[in-house]
Amino acid sequence: MSTGTVPTPKTKIVCTIGPASSEPATLRALCEAGMDVVRINMSHTSADECRRMVRDARKCADQLGVPLGILVDLQGPKIRLGKLDRPVSLDPGDSVVLVSEGVEAGENELPVTYDALADDVANGDRILVDDGRVELRVREVAPHRVRTEVAVGGTVRSGKGINLPGVRVSAPGLTEKDHADIEVAREIDADYVALSFVRSAQHVQELRDQLPEGMMVMTKIEKDSALDDLDAILSSSDAVVVARGDLGTELPFEQVPLTQKRIVRAANERFCPVVVATEMFESMIERPRPTRAEVSDAANAILEGTDAVMLSAETAVGKYPVKTVEALTRVIAEIETRGSTTARRPIYDVADVPARLEGADLSSTELAVARATLEAADAVRAPAIVTFTKSGHTARVVASRRPPVPVMAITDSGRVYRQLALVWGVVPIVQAGEATYETMWETARSHLLQRGMAEEGDRIVLTAGMPFQVRGTTNMMHVQTV
Ligand code: PGA
Ligand code: MN
Repeated sequence: MSTGTVPTPKTKIVCTIGPASSEPATLRALCEAGMDVVRINMSHTSADECRRMVRDARKCADQLGVPLGILVDLQGPKIRLGKLDRPVSLDPGDSVVLVSEGVEAGENELPVTYDALADDVANGDRILVDDGRVELRVREVAPHRVRTEVAVGGTVRSGKGINLPGVRVSAPGLTEKDHADIEVAREIDADYVALSFVRSAQHVQELRDQLPEGMMVMTKIEKDSALDDLDAILSSSDAVVVARGDLGTELPFEQVPLTQKRIVRAANERFCPVVVATEMFESMIERPRPTRAEVSDAANAILEGTDAVMLSAETAVGKYPVKTVEALTRVIAEIETRGSTTARRPIYDVADVPARLEGADLSSTELAVARATLEAADAVRAPAIVTFTKSGHTARVVASRRPPVPVMAITDSGRVYRQLALVWGVVPIVQAGEATYETMWETARSHLLQRGMAEEGDRIVLTAGMPFQVRGTTNMMHVQTV
């Protein structure tokens, strides 16, 4: 690599925006600190707040000239306790009846927001309340009523979440609220729409059917039953989230680390961008520094090969949103510059790149070109790889092999430019006007020089799908001299 090049962070940062971060000045500071994607959590955000946040975030991205993705996260069929008049204290051994909300609840009965609860659970099933703090066991099922015995006690309040580990929840993929929020996502022209509690690839398709062409579907893996259908879910999703909050309630917590590794690896293999989420720097909600354990957790996610890490309450309601992103940026820089000397990075050696993927609808041409690109970049010591990409697909294919150098992606689509902000190692550039090989190479060359990513005389490996207009045609590799 030529001297004087500056390392570009490869792992991306998704920030949930909320009351602590929605002021334009804070949004700007977050962008400067390393935020790549704005997440709007529709469980806690009104349509008007969403519109305002997106408008302000886009304005700040335009001013700074950075690609900022917008992710609208749908609540999905999250089951909750209904309205309680007062907090209810539950002791082990107590008998508690859960009643669907539409039905009159009597003394000692707790309303739940899910009508089909009594249809889905069976004797002996566990019902977890409030992130698993309280555990109930099903003892008797009657129409609209489920009698349980308290296994682990505690105090429960209105609206607390309910998880049903091991239960095949029959709720539809999208709720009425989700349909209304999809309208908002369409109106603000979101780049990604995320769906919670996906249980099968069919739910992914149901959401896709509601979105305009090009708007991407991000699937949150947070239900144990989704793991049974993981391959199909990955193949039908444009991106996935390891949503450790609910996933860690559905699964025994000790199963979360290996499940995370499994999802990240499988997503990388399928060119599917993956985000590791929840409790990354949880302690920074209250304090200006992360704990050592949190730093280690973030470092491991980076070493595993995640595309992005996501911040939730840290940036939405925490005391130190900007400091949290700065801390994460420091960890990313350290691990990416020094990680390979101390731990095996998830670089897919050329020998590791499969010639084809069993059961996946992927062309072996794309993989062959990705292998050739990696080999060539190594052989000519290219300081960067450049992709010309119409849909972003070519850039995702190359970046998914986790090359040691950045992947500059030149696209003529503003949407693809913003979507690629999420993808590991990709430096997105938007180029207006007619896209020919010559104009795109000229754009690439001037950005490589301007950003210190290459010097005159360096050789760059360029890859593209020809013709540009057709998705999924990565078929060309070229060595260009800057
Ligand atoms: P949530 O999803 O923040 O919408 O619950 C993330 C998770 O469950 O980890
Ligand atoms: Mn969740």
